[in-house]
Amino acid sequence: PKKKMRGAELRTAADYKLRLTSPDKVIFPEDGLTKGELANYYAAVADLLLIDLKQRPMTLIRCPSGRAKKCFFQKHDTGSMGDHVLHVPVKEGDGGTEDYLYVEEASGALEAVQMNTIEFHGWGSRIDPLEKPDRLVFDLDPDEGLGFDRVKTAAVRLRELLADLGLETFPLLSGGKGIHVIAPLDQKAEWPAVKSFAERFSRAIAEAEPETFTANIRKNQRKGRIFLDWLRNQRGSTAVMPYSARAREGAPVAAPVSWEELDGIDSANRFTIRDAELLLERAASKGLKGWGQAKQTLPDL
Ligand code: ATP
Ligand code: MN
Ligand code: MN
Repeated sequence: PKKKMRGAELRTAADYKLRLTSPDKVIFPEDGLTKGELANYYAAVADLLLIDLKQRPMTLIRCPSGRAKKCFFQKHDTGSMGDHVLHVPVKEGDGGTEDYLYVEEASGALEAVQMNTIEFHGWGSRIDPLEKPDRLVFDLDPDEGLGFDRVKTAAVRLRELLADLGLETFPLLSGGKGIHVIAPLDQKAEWPAVKSFAERFSRAIAEAEPETFTANIRKNQRKGRIFLDWLRNQRGSTAVMPYSARAREGAPVAAPVSWEELDGIDSANRFTIRDAELLLERAASKGLKGWGQAKQTLPDL
């Protein structure tokens, strides 16, 4: 039975003319959640997912036997995904060209779910202009065992420091352990400038506030700190897309939150694929309207 949402029905996979095979296959074994339930989650939030996913080269995490068995990243087209999973040729560093996957509309995302996709990750740029990112992402990766309170405090600190440079930012619960602090960009700067900004900014903070941050990827440098993963901001790197499910226990999703409410949130995996209705209501609420939207230029640093 469909659930009601403000008088409207939640969309389900059936609304997308999708031939979903094995809908009863359990893909989150700890939670008893099925492929059909995942597809219905994506059907319900598809419009929200597409805001960011649309026209972005994407990497899928596919788990044909469920999240607890072997999963794999898929970057390139294998020609078997579906009519709405499109490909775009991308020049690689070595002079060659590879086809990357992207979607233009919700049915493409649903076709990917039919092919056992659980997670959607995307580049920091869209297919046109591919060389000019429309977002910066600071992926906060806490050391093992570090409390979420520390991650929140660090995210708020980043917000302040980026605001000092004129960048408005938006927090995303990763659905895993951390928070992504996202700054939309106006697609004027190219990849090398964006990456260079992210690196220099991150290294400067790590130097100024070493009790909280490290910009060094090595785990043994983390020790009670948060790794500021600036490497998400290079051409070809991806970050998880808002509203993507995660192939982790509890079937969490990457969820936009507001700075105002962040203090009251106690984990990065607090929303799950069972929360489609709540996520739709939240997205329409005052606190989240305009989340991820700002017209701003990469600052000089
Ligand atoms: P968490 O909050 O638990 O760190 P996360 O999504 O931020 O969750 P990370 O390991 O920090 O996970 O990775 C950040 C992003 O980098 C991922 O969302 C993904 O897009 C990309 N990524 C990480 N590992 C790989 C990989 N092996 N292959 C391709 N992309 C990867
Ligand atoms: Mn992370
Ligand atoms: Mn990371």
